[in-house]
Amino acid sequence: MTAKILDGIKIRDAMFAELKDEVAILSSAGIRPGLAAVLVGENPASQLYVKSKIAACEQLGMGSGLITPPASVGTADMLAIVEDLNRDNDTDGILIQLPLPAQVDTKRVLEAVDPAKDVDGFHPVNLGRLVSGRPGLVACTPAGCMEILRRNGIALEGANAVVLGRSDIVGKPMALLLMHANATVTICHSKTRDLPELVRGADIVVAAMGKAGFVEADWIKPGAAVIDVGTNRVTELSEAERLFRNLPERLEKFKAKGNALAGDVHPDAVNVAGALTPVPGGVGPMTITMLMSNTVKASRMRRAKAVPRAIASAGPGSGGR
Ligand code: NAP
Repeated sequence: MTAKILDGIKIRDAMFAELKDEVAILSSAGIRPGLAAVLVGENPASQLYVKSKIAACEQLGMGSGLITPPASVGTADMLAIVEDLNRDNDTDGILIQLPLPAQVDTKRVLEAVDPAKDVDGFHPVNLGRLVSGRPGLVACTPAGCMEILRRNGIALEGANAVVLGRSDIVGKPMALLLMHANATVTICHSKTRDLPELVRGADIVVAAMGKAGFVEADWIKPGAAVIDVGTNRVTELSEAERLFRNLPERLEKFKAKGNALAGDVHPDAVNVAGALTPVPGGVGPMTITMLMSNTVKASRMRRAKAVPRAIASAGPGSGGR
């Protein structure tokens, strides 16, 4: 049996088309959803992430702004920037690109963001809303995983779901979203005993540990749905040989390039699972998609409640409770 591939790129493209319509409707009512990014210093990876987020805004017809304080910026200056953006009516979403330099109190800066503009879903107010199952802005990666499950018709009610990882940005919100969708959820972490046995009982597995190919194919229950959040850069040949032992093309590519991306689930799981997200091309494209969706949702919640929606149900911005 070969798993159905849960294609994140396809879902991203579908959601971008929906969001584009939604943005056009809002814009025709005089409301252009806008995202402001704060990018501190010159970290090339952060620059690349922010660039792609701004490009996505442009593609959807949304407004975007970029503020680039120097790497020497202090907490007070960052708080002043956030306050300005909180007050700016054209800014619906505020994105503080992490990590911030060591001298900046990251927690304080993130908590200063107006919860109504917290499109990353990191603010304690939005986390509280998620815990209590009230509408709010949900962290993009777990919201994207839910969108993948929902758009592929994977049944969650009564399902046994195992979440591997308990980080604030992925594991914990993911577990809450699955619980609110009426799955029975087990949260695992580095101190969990008998991990393979727990995974063997799961109808849904969400792996978010940051350990390449850690979840072996024989841990997966035949037919289970596997969402692989892990994004690991593999550089060791022995590691690539272990991961791609049945994928000669990927091994050759690794040898030519010297590195490869791998998820937390061993690629051989494709022969056991019922459905599975590939790495790359599964969860990855959903994170930026949900950031755009959250910005449109924030715009609608804050200043466009009366504007008719593009889609009557399951429209953009429905990527979380
Ligand atoms: P993180 O903050 O490092 O958390 C990792 C979690 O995995 C922790 O809860 C840790 O347990 C658990 N863990 C580590 N080793 C384990 C083991 N041997 N057995 C069981 N649990 C173990 O990572 P994160 O930010 O959540 O990210 C997780 C992965 O997702 C990374 O590969 C990251 O790159 C990827 N990611 C991808 C996207 C995307 O857009 N595709 C977005 C975000 C993250 P403890 O709590 O006990 O330490």
